[in-house]
Amino acid sequence: MSEIILHVEHLLQYFPTKNGVVRAVDDITFSMERRDILGLVGESGSGKTTTAQCIMGMYQPTGGNILFKGKKFASSFRKRSKTLKGDLRIVFQDPGSSLNPKRTIKQILSLPLMVHGIGNARERLLRLRALLEMVELPPDEYLYKYPQSIGGGEKQMVAIARALATNPSFVILDEPTSALDVSVQGKIINLLLRLREKFNLSYLFITHDLSLMRNVTTRIAIMYLGKLSEIAPTAEFFEQPLHPYPKMLLSSIPVVSDEEETLKPEKIVSTGEIPSPVNVPSGCSFHSRCVQRIGVCPQVDPEMVEIEEGHFVRCHLFGNSRELYSKTREQIR
Ligand code: SF4
Repeated sequence: MSEIILHVEHLLQYFPTKNGVVRAVDDITFSMERRDILGLVGESGSGKTTTAQCIMGMYQPTGGNILFKGKKFASSFRKRSKTLKGDLRIVFQDPGSSLNPKRTIKQILSLPLMVHGIGNARERLLRLRALLEMVELPPDEYLYKYPQSIGGGEKQMVAIARALATNPSFVILDEPTSALDVSVQGKIINLLLRLREKFNLSYLFITHDLSLMRNVTTRIAIMYLGKLSEIAPTAEFFEQPLHPYPKMLLSSIPVVSDEEETLKPEKIVSTGEIPSPVNVPSGCSFHSRCVQRIGVCPQVDPEMVEIEEGHFVRCHLFGNSRELYSKTREQIR
């Protein structure tokens, strides 16, 4: 049986503001197995980055639990054990701001090794060289360079090497390619996939780019206004998305061939604007934009239900049972 490496259970993260409470993460539950690459996808303000920050201990969640390798751990980063901090790492979106410009790459990569008490000076130097080789940067050329003297893709490679310095089993990738030129995005993605194979890593891949996820992830989770709309294995999701919101996102992805065009869901144009996160609509929060809404949608918030093994949807069109699903599935095709 596969090992559940991360389990997020009824996670809540609310932020009081002078205009009201922002429900950035509003009761989400999902699990990841070892070697999973889960794409957590949503528009800006959907709560995906806040979810990552809660897992990393950057916020004290308003409610819910996060279990890592079956154990509940301190929600605050400061109170976590060194072992946990080394095992659960993050790569940020912008390597330009996540790497200290006043330190050489050698100093940047040495820091996590020293903090985690890994090796003596000589062993650490060997480890630094191995880390740079791992991310395909020749050590002799890069060890004494400063971040500002290398390109964006190379900076992100250094950031990946820093994340892997402590031999983690789980890495959060927070939009790791969105600040990079298209020409280097593929290189970084391929590197991440090779490293996952080599070290048995699990990735939580945060992104707003749904099309990027098709060839990268094993599963997809879609977030909208702090809640999950649909979670499914990647191939199944792209073949047959069920929830109206991801269907809308998929229908608007540009494609380059007629073959891809035929695979896309029928074009769905949403009605209305994205609501303010301090004034989330009642019932299903997507109802103000949903072209398939039914009478109950503005009144009752739907439950997440498992439609097929591993495929979860939160929408009244799918009711609360597989039986109802099979009836509705034909109707909404
Ligand atoms: Fe649309 Fe209703 Fe489903 Fe929400 S619950 S996505 S409004 S059909």
